[in-house]
Amino acid sequence: MSDCIFCKIVEGKIPAQKVYEDEDILAFNDINPARPVHVLVIPKKHITSLATVAAEDTPVLGKMLATANGIATAQGSPDGFRVIINTGRVGNQEVPHLHLHIVGGPDPVGPMLKRI
Ligand code: AMP
Ligand code: ZN
Repeated sequence: MSDCIFCKIVEGKIPAQKVYEDEDILAFNDINPARPVHVLVIPKKHITSLATVAAEDTPVLGKMLATANGIATAQGSPDGFRVIINTGRVGNQEVPHLHLHIVGGPDPVGPMLKRI
């Protein structure tokens, strides 16, 4: 996707602070962190959101989750973290390339959502 900001990060056309990379996924620091640890994990392949995943995407989705603990620990949140995947309009997704937020400590990140 030529106009996708996260595809451009994968292609090296715009810079990012990379913290993990393999053949399928890339992780980099969020440019506007909400917590001391705030990493985005993305598939290198363009997938718009969780609403558009295909069956063939299952392995890369699993890898994104399976690497989260190691990334969080390496980045300074060894005692847990939160994963967030905002999806579509209702999920307030801003960047239309699937990404998993890892937010973490050292202190607890706080309550999940304000209850209705
Ligand atoms: P979301 O609302 O889930 O789509 O989150 C998008 C996230 O991408 C936000 O937390 C932004 O701060 C982050 N972001 C946007 N542009 C960049 C960039 N060039 N490098 C790193 N993070 C970015
Ligand atoms: Zn993309």
